Amino acid sequence: MSGLPWRRALVTGGAGFVGSHLCARLVRAGTEVVCLDNLSTGDRANVAGLEQRPGFRFVRADATDAAALAALPGRFDLVLHFACPASPADYLRLPLETLDAGSTGTRNALERARADGARFLLASTSEVYGDPLEHPQQEDYWGNVNPVGPRSVYDESKRFAEALVTAHRRVHGTDTAIVRIFNTYGPRMRTGDGRAVPTFIAQALDGTPLTVAGDGSQTRSLCYVDDTVDGVLALAASGETGPVNIGGTDEITVLELARRIVGLTGSASRIRFVDRPVDDPARRRPDTRLARERLGWQPRVGWTEGLRRTVGWFSHAAAA
Ligand code: NAD
Repeated sequence: MSGLPWRRALVTGGAGFVGSHLCARLVRAGTEVVCLDNLSTGDRANVAGLEQRPGFRFVRADATDAAALAALPGRFDLVLHFACPASPADYLRLPLETLDAGSTGTRNALERARADGARFLLASTSEVYGDPLEHPQQEDYWGNVNPVGPRSVYDESKRFAEALVTAHRRVHGTDTAIVRIFNTYGPRMRTGDGRAVPTFIAQALDGTPLTVAGDGSQTRSLCYVDDTVDGVLALAASGETGPVNIGGTDEITVLELARRIVGLTGSASRIRFVDRPVDDPARRRPDTRLARERLGWQPRVGWTEGLRRTVGWFSHAAAA
C-alpha cells in the first residue's frame, strides 16, 4: 500500500516490535501518529528514528489508564490497539498485566475510537485457536484453549478482547476490525523473549547450541513483519470487521527453522533438544483465503529473504 487514507492515528503498543513497524509505515505515508506505550516490553529506541520526524509523537502511558487515553489531544480517525505483552517470556512474567491489557486496555482504546468516530483495529492472535484440532485454521474455528494453563493469560485475554470489540460494535456501532496475527518475525525482535527466531539467531551468532524444544517436529508458519504490516493496514483500510487471519502459509518444523538459521549465519552451532513448554501448540498454519479474497493480501517476502534481513539486523545490533 502506498498512500493511506488516514490523517491521524493512535497506535497503542507502538514502541514494540510490530507496533514500531506500523508507526514507521504510517508516518512514511504521511499519517500523523501518536504512539502510546508504557514500555513494559517495548523500547523507545524502536521509534527513536521516528521521533525526529514531524507528525510523530511518543506518549509514555498505560492503555489501562482511561484518563490518559481520553486526554490525548486532537481527533484520531484510526486507533490501532497493539498494547499487550506478546511473547511467552513476557506474558508469563506479566500475567495480570496481560489480562488487563486485553480487557481494560481494549475497552479504553475502544472508548477513544468511539468518542472520535475513528476506525478501530484490535491486534488479536492465532493463539485464540490454542492447540488447534483443525488444520489449517479458518476464522470460523473456535479454538482449543486450556483456560487454566500458563498460556491462558494471553490466549484468554485476546479472546475476551475479541468479545469486547464485537459487543462494542453491536451496542455502540463502533467501526471495528479484528486481525488475528500469526507468528511474525523480523528486525527489532528481542533476544531472550522466548520466540524461536530471535532465540535461534542469537544462539547462532554467539556460536552456542540452538535450543530446539521437544524433537523439533512441531511446525510454525512465520510471516515477515513488512507483510504483516501490509495485512493489518489493508484490513484497517477496508470495511471488513474480521476476524481476518494474517500470517505466513509456508509451514516449517522448528528443527528445520533452526537448521536454516545455522546455514544463513554460517554458524558452527549445533542443535540441542530441550523440554517443550506446557501447552506448546503442535501445528499452526493460517487459512488466509479471506485475506486474499477480501483484502487482496498475501505474503510477499519469502523465508530466505526474510531471515536474511532479520539476521542482518541482529548482526548489526550485536556489533553496535
Ligand atoms: P511487543 O511486546 O514487542 O509489543 C507490545 C508493546 O505494547 C510494547 O511496546 C509494550 O511496552 C506495550 N504495552 C504492553 N502493555 C501495555 C499497556 N498496558 N499500555 C501501553 N503499552 C503497553 O510485542 P509484539 O510482538 O510487537 O506484539 C504487538 C501486538 O501484536 C500484541 O498485541 C500482540 O498480541 C500482537 N501479536 C503479535 C504477534 C507476533 O508474532 N509478534 C502475533 C500475534 C499477535
